[in-house]
Amino acid sequence: MPRCSHTYADSSQCRRIVTSEQQLCYSHGPSRASERKRNAARGGKAKASGELGRVKARLQTLADMVEEGQMDRADAAVICQVWGCYLRALSVELKVREATELIERLDLLEEAAERKNEGDSRRWGA
Ligand SMILES: [Zn+2]
Repeated sequence: MPRCSHTYADSSQCRRIVTSEQQLCYSHGPSRASERKRNAARGGKAKASGELGRVKARLQTLADMVEEGQMDRADAAVICQVWGCYLRALSVELKVREATELIERLDLLEEAAERKNEGDSRRWGA
């Protein structure tokens, strides 16, 4: 079966199978250039969303490598598990940050309410 004729920077060849009319796979064919550009832009936005975006980008790369036969499936499974743990830790961290932020906002509201009550008491002499 014919293979995609794209070669990577390390001079290894792309391992995706293509039909006999095609020379390049989905990732490397020029006809899909605009689609890839859109996907890349989406990836760029993911990067802007910080840590989570970076993890997603790495998982995407990992998936591509497994698909292209550049990464051992067992290794990929372990790496994926590790990233899963990382994501859980990240999710706990986010929840703690959210709760802390809510508590701070609640404190501010309570302070403001107290100040308002004091002001009212002074004004009405109660
Ligand atoms: Zn290819």
